[in-house]
Amino acid sequence: MLGPPGAGKGTQSHNLVNDYNLRKISTGELLRKEITNKTSLGNQIRSIMDSGSLVSDKIMNDLISKNLLKNEIYEKLIFDGYPRNLNQAIELDNMIKVKGKKISCVLSLEVDKNTVIKRISGRQTCANCGLIFNKYFSPPTDSNHKCDKKFLIKRSDDNETTLENRFDTYYKKTLPILNYYKKQNLLHKINGMAEINDIYKEIRGIIASIET
Ligand SMILES: [Zn+2]
Repeated sequence: MLGPPGAGKGTQSHNLVNDYNLRKISTGELLRKEITNKTSLGNQIRSIMDSGSLVSDKIMNDLISKNLLKNEIYEKLIFDGYPRNLNQAIELDNMIKVKGKKISCVLSLEVDKNTVIKRISGRQTCANCGLIFNKYFSPPTDSNHKCDKKFLIKRSDDNETTLENRFDTYYKKTLPILNYYKKQNLLHKINGMAEINDIYKEIRGIIASIET
């Protein structure tokens, strides 16, 4: 499952896990687990992240490989947030190839960058009543929100420049992966701006077409 930040990868992969009995491998979760468990890999990862650097391909691959080996499960997997670049994609193929497995489907959620940035960065939550607003699409007004403005909070890491950078990094690193999978006829591009249920319907259709 590929897609930039805010494309709804989490929601869609969650649906797939439930309906198709898949096992989700999320690198974000794996990284956090290693750090929490203070494994030697986890300590290494923590110091890299603390220094503000990106975790290397080697570490990412070790992490995936360790997890695949531990569970001895090489099928019905769904990867979320991985591979992040062409090297990781090639290495993933190598890891599963030795077990006689291959990737059967690559889903890419395509979104409009500016809209998604506004969706995320404009989000405001009221600390008092819990209502969620968006300063661009559904701003709090006198009629829909009674609490004082001071209760409205936004997440600090959601500012537009940070998001813009994350998008640019995503596109730069992911384009080669998309081409790599396209050449193997595995790539399915999906309109990530559609309604969540419609997106899922489209994904189900794609899976039905490859299961035969
Ligand atoms: Zn409120």
